[in-house]
Amino acid sequence: MIIKVLTLFPEVLEPYFKGSMIGRAQSKNAVKIETMNIRDFSLDKHNSVDDYPFGGGGGMIMTPQPIVSAHQAAVKKCNTDKEIRTIYCTPKGKTLNQCIAKELSEEKHIIILCGHYEGVDQRAIDTVTTDEISIGDYVLTGGELPAAVIVDSVVRLLPDVLDSKKRYEEESFFNGMLEYPQYTRPREYLGQKVPNVLLSGDHSKINKWRHFQSLKETWLKRPDLLNGINMTEEEKQFIKKLRENPNEETDC
Ligand code: SAM
Repeated sequence: MIIKVLTLFPEVLEPYFKGSMIGRAQSKNAVKIETMNIRDFSLDKHNSVDDYPFGGGGGMIMTPQPIVSAHQAAVKKCNTDKEIRTIYCTPKGKTLNQCIAKELSEEKHIIILCGHYEGVDQRAIDTVTTDEISIGDYVLTGGELPAAVIVDSVVRLLPDVLDSKKRYEEESFFNGMLEYPQYTRPREYLGQKVPNVLLSGDHSKINKWRHFQSLKETWLKRPDLLNGINMTEEEKQFIKKLRENPNEETDC
């Protein structure tokens, strides 16, 4: 996969893309990420990239020309005839979720546009973007953190990035539920013991326990995720017991 990020602040993003899982994904050639500085494409004699809003109001607006030129250069570098998904990070967009991340991870190329100041001239958005994505209902200073969030959520789903596909398939949201609780050594910490079933070595029992703990976590913390899910009789009984006594230790 090739990801190009158009930004006025590449220095904010580059360290993040070099480190940890994203850095490793790039060394394994699972993804190639390039940040492109929008300012380098300004045709203005002072290299300016923003201007006052027509109609008044505070703040500055990113002008369309440097963005459209940076986008054209990014598309050219991708060397494909296909339309490239171009995401504008904006609080007005669809809220990012695992389903959107999965869908984007199936693209060969994506371009991400980071806004700054009071935002971007609408004509640039209309010219280059195919998608608008928000990372939540709050306003950040720029699109760099949202771009890093999008890249991270997408890259970890690419083949060979995590040591096994199973790792993300068991994570929160993959199957529409939250992940079960996890434990590591020691077996006992501050008087709290690791559930016996996890020490049993019986994988079918462990899987069943994890499935029902996942259901419990979801029912307690994000009941909205369970709307419209078809439950088995055993799952319905489990939820019924939880409803009667949410604090009781629930075995399945
Ligand atoms: N005036 C804009 C508004 O009210 O919608 C907000 C502009 S914000 C200060 C500057 C830039 O940060 C935006 O152009 C966008 O790229 C990015 N941004 C801010 N909050 C975001 C969010 N929740 N999700 C995605 N991008 C965001």
